[in-house]
Amino acid sequence: MTPHIDIYFRCLVTAMIFCLPAAAQPQSSGIAEIVHAETPELIALYQQLHQHPELSEQEKETSRVLADELRALGFDVTERVGGYGVVGMMKNGGGPVVLVRTDMDALPITELTEVPYISNVPGVMHACGHDVHMTVWKGTASVVSKLRDQWRGTVVFVAQPAEENGVGAKSMLADGLFTRFPRPDYALALHVSSVLPAGTVGYHAGMFLASIDNLTITVKGRGGHGAAPQQTIDPIVLTSKIVLSLQSIISREIAPTEPAVISVGSIHGGSRSNIIPSEVEISLTVRTFEDHIREHLLRAIKRVADGEAHAAGLTPEEYPHIKHEGESFPSMYNDPKLTEQMAAVFRQTLGEQHVRELSRELVGEDFARYGREQPPIPTMIYSLGTVHPDHVTAAAAGQMTLPPLHGSLYVPVPDPSIPTGVKTMSAAVLSLLQQKLEDH
Ligand SMILES: [Zn+2]
Ligand SMILES: [Zn+2]
Repeated sequence: MTPHIDIYFRCLVTAMIFCLPAAAQPQSSGIAEIVHAETPELIALYQQLHQHPELSEQEKETSRVLADELRALGFDVTERVGGYGVVGMMKNGGGPVVLVRTDMDALPITELTEVPYISNVPGVMHACGHDVHMTVWKGTASVVSKLRDQWRGTVVFVAQPAEENGVGAKSMLADGLFTRFPRPDYALALHVSSVLPAGTVGYHAGMFLASIDNLTITVKGRGGHGAAPQQTIDPIVLTSKIVLSLQSIISREIAPTEPAVISVGSIHGGSRSNIIPSEVEISLTVRTFEDHIREHLLRAIKRVADGEAHAAGLTPEEYPHIKHEGESFPSMYNDPKLTEQMAAVFRQTLGEQHVRELSRELVGEDFARYGREQPPIPTMIYSLGTVHPDHVTAAAAGQMTLPPLHGSLYVPVPDPSIPTGVKTMSAAVLSLLQQKLEDH
């Protein structure tokens, strides 16, 4: 998940429970017992993964560890799908196909926590909790494999590389994730939260996470002597106008009810005070939820940049050059029916007070791509609390600041975060695999 902003959450009013669609509750017995018995070895796996983080597109050892874990559970495992992607399949008669996805990559951050299992790799850290995701994924695979007599269908466990740079989902889909392997009827994932207490989960039906487009704009001008500006077209002045004009797009062209962000994060140009440079480069991030607003914003950015360049006296050949920086992320849509069903399962699993409805967030996730294949696949990602409850209370009272995701001090509390993740994900998968095929 890309850098974090505050999450605002609210508890559901009790009355709302009775408005939810009837969910297929897992007729499960044994999830809690298996999770309880396996928690020590899951924590050990988590610590091992945390100590050996690998960057995006370099998840060689991590993927090998996960492939071995699934093979040991009896899954049919394929490696090197779309890079270091792993696909583990278990067929168990006729029924739905349920996909469970984890990501595997870490970040170029020096860990500054004091945990005994601190990263062994200088400058690399699991600061986005993907080590927690992998551990929950393995724990869920274990529960599902041990409770085979309670479900029918196929599970597809996907360990995806390169989420942070937006490459992984795209690469795995391009490498036949939905054609070489059974196409899922449902796809599920979770992401750690750096604000929700450990032992809780959160969800949001509908548009949950934002689209992300990172752009670089090269603003050209005509350079010259700082003492003779009349002989130049100053790209620093022009860029300043563009930056200010960009701020008006959202305030004047987008309905106030629609969340959207254009943030310019860097400006680079020039070398010294008396030289007017010939170009300036700016980079910006664009985030929103609805596809048509995203398209409007991208068109408006070009229109504003070209318009200001025209006003400055540049010719069309000299207009700013706009290019995407890295992969874009589409917005993440949580299928409402699936999400409400899963929320009901979570409540049954954890208790009402441990399940929270969340507001949407302007971070992004490339899991969004799984749901955007045609025809669309009902998809849901939910949030897993990982913060010590005392810290949540202290932060709410203004006594401390919680370390954010992508920060060098982020420390998830392994227990009960990991068992909570395994219990909820296992219950979710089992509930879907216990539905009759015609129900979905
Ligand atoms: Zn991240
Ligand atoms: Zn992440």
